[in-house]
Amino acid sequence: MSVKHQKHGLNIVHECSFTPATSIDDASLISISEIFGPTIQGEGALIGCQTVFVRTAGCDYRCQWCDTAHAVLPEYEEEWLSLDAQTIFKEVERLSKHQPMWVTLSGGNPSIQELGELIKLGHDKSYKFSMETQGSISKPWFALLDQLTFSPKPPSSAMHFKQRLLDRCLQACGDKTDVSFKFVIADNDDLIWAKSIADQYPDLPCYIQPCNTQASLEGDLTKNVAITHKIDQQSQMIALIEATQTLNWHQVRILPQLHTWLWGDQKGV
Ligand code: SF4
Repeated sequence: MSVKHQKHGLNIVHECSFTPATSIDDASLISISEIFGPTIQGEGALIGCQTVFVRTAGCDYRCQWCDTAHAVLPEYEEEWLSLDAQTIFKEVERLSKHQPMWVTLSGGNPSIQELGELIKLGHDKSYKFSMETQGSISKPWFALLDQLTFSPKPPSSAMHFKQRLLDRCLQACGDKTDVSFKFVIADNDDLIWAKSIADQYPDLPCYIQPCNTQASLEGDLTKNVAITHKIDQQSQMIALIEATQTLNWHQVRILPQLHTWLWGDQKGV
């Protein structure tokens, strides 16, 4: 089937092999924005790893600089598909040519979906699952994940961080789940805030990256913006390294947003 996406004046047609479910009331269905890959993970603990992305749709947050408006805002709802776990995993297998690899569960906030069955299906075929979430909603199936990145949103997002919700999420993780933090940093207040959170969880690896402040829930997708990103990211990285050292925060790992540096805000990579 062919699914037509219209975003920021651009028509993008993705050829998809799956058929959307007919009923969207079924609680077992998962709301999907896009499934694509293999590509590389551009952020956090698995940066550079090859992976298929399953981007779920819907989010309980509205961060000012969100770069995935198409998976968040209700005006994109008609582009989203309600799919069962089997259909999603078949598409993952097709894209990966049945070669087990990392599957990245992303969003939106994937925690608002029920993803346990999908993870079990993948594990049966030796796929591994990673996920990123802001840590606002906990689910029992977190314990099934091979890798889980918590990315609490800093003050510049204009969202309100609730630590008790993050702690609930951390408690839901299993012994075998590799857990880490990743913070996006837009300014010095964000950096000081991120350090204050990370310092409370000294056993968890922590990654920081410059915030893509070019993005917003009303962002643009042009080649020029992608080029500007590269220049901005380079100077942002240098500024972030210097600010982190000024703060004497030497345990944290400082990474670029690799996929944004390579492809800008382009979808499906
Ligand atoms: S940045 Fe993440 S948490 Fe914030 S609105 Fe976008 S998808 Fe949701």
